[in-house]
Amino acid sequence: MVESVRPRRILVPTDFSPGAESALEWAKALGEAFRAEVLLLHVLDLTIGALAGFPANVAMVPAAGELLERIRVEAQQEMAKVSGRMPGARTIIREGMPRSMILDVAREVGADMIVMGTHGRTGLTHVFFGSVAEHVVRHSRIAVLTVRQRTE
Ligand code: ATP
Ligand code: MN
Repeated sequence: MVESVRPRRILVPTDFSPGAESALEWAKALGEAFRAEVLLLHVLDLTIGALAGFPANVAMVPAAGELLERIRVEAQQEMAKVSGRMPGARTIIREGMPRSMILDVAREVGADMIVMGTHGRTGLTHVFFGSVAEHVVRHSRIAVLTVRQRTE
C-alpha cells in the first residue's frame, strides 16, 4: 500500500508579477483543501545584471546602498500586499539567485510541494516556460505545480 499523499507545507515562490498570480490562487485553494501550511517566498536578485532593468545603471551610482535599501523595502511592501490576501501564510524574503534559492528554501523549510507560475516578470509569452520555472521543475525533488497566467 502506498502511504497517502497530501501536501502539508506548500512553498509559493513569487516575483510579484501577474504571471505568479494564478499560482497564488492555486496555492491558496490547495492550502485550504489540505489544511496545509503556505509559505510565500520572494528572492531578491541584487546582481548587476538583474538590476539592469532598473533606471540607468543604478547599481553603479554612489547611492547604490540607498537604492538597494529601497529595493529591499519595496520587496517587503509587495510581500505584505500578497500576504494580505493569503491569511495565515508565512513570508520569506531572501537574497540570491532565484532558481537555486527556491530549491534551497524548499529543502530548508521541509516543503513537500512547490506551486509557481510558468512565467514571471519577464513574461515572454512565446517562451514555453520561464527559466526559473524550468530550472525548478527540472531539479526539484518534491512535486511542482506550474500554473499558467489566466488570460481573459
Ligand atoms: P525569465 O526570468 O526566464 O526571463 P519569466 O520571468 O517569464 O522568464 P520565470 O522567472 O521562470 O519566468 O518565472 C516563473 C515563476 O517563477 C514566477 O511566476 C514565480 O512563481 C517564480 N519566480 C520567478 N522569479 C522569482 C523570484 N525572484 N522570487 C521568487 N519566485 C520567482
Ligand atoms: Mn523571471
